Amino acid sequence: MIARADVAMLDKFERALINGRLHMLYQPKVSLADGSLKRVEALVRWTDPDLGTIPPSRFVPLAEEHGLIDELTQWGLRTTLRQWIAWQAEGLDTDLAFNISALSLDHLDFPDLVERMCRALDVPTGRLVLELTEGATQPLIKLIDTLTRMRIKGIGLAIDDFGVGYSTLMQLRQLPFTELKIDRFFIRDAPEAADSALICRSIIDLAHGLGLTVTAEGVETVEQMQLLSDYGCDVAQGYLVAEPLAADAVAGWYEGWQARWPGLLKKRVADRARPREVTR
Ligand code: C2E
Ligand code: CA
Ligand code: CA
Repeated sequence: MIARADVAMLDKFERALINGRLHMLYQPKVSLADGSLKRVEALVRWTDPDLGTIPPSRFVPLAEEHGLIDELTQWGLRTTLRQWIAWQAEGLDTDLAFNISALSLDHLDFPDLVERMCRALDVPTGRLVLELTEGATQPLIKLIDTLTRMRIKGIGLAIDDFGVGYSTLMQLRQLPFTELKIDRFFIRDAPEAADSALICRSIIDLAHGLGLTVTAEGVETVEQMQLLSDYGCDVAQGYLVAEPLAADAVAGWYEGWQARWPGLLKKRVADRARPREVTR
């Protein structure tokens, strides 16, 4: 049974979605090799006049449970693709990362829908990475089919929150991911805790062995970034680099970041092998 507070929230959320009162913030991800901007991850936001700011961890599950997730996904993707066109026009060149609910993968035509949206807005599919967490309910064989069709269309696929939840090594081997994101749980205490550091290092080596790009999320300190750089991690994302930003703040942030980057890290301990360009 749905709690009364949830009914009220659901109703407000549905109206916000229909009336265009959600918005997107964009969090940069930068290369640990040279500090350059690799992508921005779109993160949805909802502020209700009465309820205040509600985190996506609250309203995304509500949308999933009550049949609003497809609408949310399509609104979010359209908004993000349009923003990419605006950034290109301003001379800001970046790839995009977009979170999708596992439920979207249950629709067999989802890859076609994403491709159609990219075409309609004139965004090359190769500029888009979809971030997935576990939880798809379809059988593995269908999931492999859906994700493979995404890859054939040129869309990148990241496994999000790796290391917590149910993401398994078997999935890593069988599903055609191009990127792995190490959950911030392991990043948090890696500079002090030998076991977390070992886990980070092992995940990075494992992912590279499988031809995946590795992104560390939740990087908040220089010590964390230094360690990840020493271990050969490819990309960093987190408050040390930037908090999620309004669309029109990204270009200004990047100017500041390019000035800050050169003095931030000691030289990399060893220039470990970069991952192959993914051909999976
Ligand atoms: P996620 O994909 O793992 O996103 C990263 C979350 O970590 C974001 O929270 C971000 O604001 C936060 N974060 C970024 N850097 C740091 C850091 O250095 N330290 C800490 N402590 N946190 C950091 P947010 O925006 O509240 O999003 C939460 C989750 O909601 C996301 O987790 C994602 O799973 C989901 N989500 C967000 N936007 C969308 C969307 O448009 N569609 C769908 N389906 N899910 C979304
Ligand atoms: Ca994500
Ligand atoms: Ca994540």
